[in-house]
Amino acid sequence: MDVSRLFKCRVLIVDDDPVLLQTTAAIVRSFGFSVRTAEDGFDALKILREILPDMIISDLRMPNMSGFELLSIVRRRFPHLPTIGISGEFILATMPLGLLVDHFFQKGEYTPTDLKAKMKELISESPIRAHIGKADKAPLWIPRKDAGYVVVTCPECLRSCSIEDQTETGDLQETECFACGATINYLVDSSVLKLLNDKRPRVSA
Ligand SMILES: [Zn+2]
Repeated sequence: MDVSRLFKCRVLIVDDDPVLLQTTAAIVRSFGFSVRTAEDGFDALKILREILPDMIISDLRMPNMSGFELLSIVRRRFPHLPTIGISGEFILATMPLGLLVDHFFQKGEYTPTDLKAKMKELISESPIRAHIGKADKAPLWIPRKDAGYVVVTCPECLRSCSIEDQTETGDLQETECFACGATINYLVDSSVLKLLNDKRPRVSA
């Protein structure tokens, strides 16, 4: 790939751990990319409403809005945009992860060289991907929260609101965006959130 093109590429990196965020940002900058950082999914959406990066690298487990939610919105809104998911858990086998990310790295299991090679590969494929059928008929995927509500983000205007949700997991739901009126189809899934919670060490109050 032409190096001058790489220099123009903008990468959005999302991680709730500030040390990891800055470390990854420094590594990716050293590859010659221009980097923006966000501390969770909502922060990332705020940036996405202003600028469209050439790639997103996101941690999958974050408070407020997880990488799963963020990347399902990104896939709907910007299906051509390459994405890399990074997580400490090995969750590939239980998730339709391929629908959300183009590549998955497990924390601590990859080198900067691996990351650079994958980024170059995905960015060079991006113009081809733009012509592949759009994935925007796919429903958004939203992990179920315990409190009986879900946060739904509009794939058109990228604004979020929480709505009550008492329905069975796996049923296709439909709602209207409070901001722009677009129809939002979404699926609520409790399986991954449960998996993450089960793995999280319990902290007693
Ligand atoms: Zn909207």
